[in-house]
Amino acid sequence: MKRRDFITTTALGASALAFGGCHRAEDKTEANSFNINRGKKVTLKLATSWPAHFPIMGTGVDTFAKRCSELSGGTLEIKIFAKNILVPALQVFDAASAAQIDAFHSGVYYWKGKNSAFSIFGGMPLGLTSEEMITWFKFAGGYDLWREMYGKYNLYPLIGGTTGPQMGGWFKKEINSLADLKGLKMRIPGLGGEVMKKLGANPVLLPAGEIYTALERGTIDATEWVGPALDSMMGFAKAAPYYYEGWHEPGSILELTFNKARWERLSSEHQAIITAASEEMTSNMLQEFRYKNAVALQKLPKTVQIKTFPDEMMRAAKKALAEILADESAKSSDFKRVLESYEAFVKLNQPWDDIARKHILEIRG
Ligand code: CA
Repeated sequence: MKRRDFITTTALGASALAFGGCHRAEDKTEANSFNINRGKKVTLKLATSWPAHFPIMGTGVDTFAKRCSELSGGTLEIKIFAKNILVPALQVFDAASAAQIDAFHSGVYYWKGKNSAFSIFGGMPLGLTSEEMITWFKFAGGYDLWREMYGKYNLYPLIGGTTGPQMGGWFKKEINSLADLKGLKMRIPGLGGEVMKKLGANPVLLPAGEIYTALERGTIDATEWVGPALDSMMGFAKAAPYYYEGWHEPGSILELTFNKARWERLSSEHQAIITAASEEMTSNMLQEFRYKNAVALQKLPKTVQIKTFPDEMMRAAKKALAEILADESAKSSDFKRVLESYEAFVKLNQPWDDIARKHILEIRG
């Protein structure tokens, strides 16, 4: 929500309470819509890209819907449709854009085919953490660019949670050098997959339901997923004993996106409730991932070996990523603009992060 809208809504709420509907002239139009919409029940159809009640991501949206109902006194109902019920998992963007559904919950990097710049909104390999990404969106221009670019598709995006740092994935064999990546078949999407390709690996995309079997049968040599909490449910430890620390998804952002025309027809009150409930969902999801990953890490089978990728590989990954970003910037002015905003925030954030957070993490041991 824009600052002006927030101020107007707050002022209206206060004046409605104090003066029983007696408003200043300039508030009249919005005051009327506020009063008309107040108490009127609104139902929104929200489709997700996850199975029903999928742990953490799906249950996060369930709680978001419940909070919208509670905070609105029952006047705002969000009806959730799990993947493939109303629309296929990866068609939620198009369906909301065409107003076939009102909203969706999904991952931003799925839509990079529409505009390569969208991949940056979803997170950057070797880049910003979840907390840093959220700061960029809210305070350093990220939201303005995201909303401008989604606006061309008649969409209005909100951050819909974040995973925190993800693990580097499960490998059947140890990776001791760059040479070990040659021809390695790995399930890894997004910019991380493009970097792996430049390093000689063969990134593949597989639906969630097929990954375990492919890994177990050796059709693929490695896979990334999320972190210990969700990875344990997939059983990867039985098929690949080497579990590598992450680099490619330090802070992946999920999205809660609305059809823009539908969003604009909502009352200021309902917009404020959705915005507040989405921020609550984002913060809860980050904390839940942190806690459940910490618990699940302790419970991994003893056969699992936690590993760090070789320095040689990470140096090559940084170089490959820089080349990919330069290529994409040359091809797309949107990508270039988003990257410039992102990098300006990285530059601003780094010195303070080094003397504050990084320092604490180092000295506390
Ligand atoms: Ca992942």
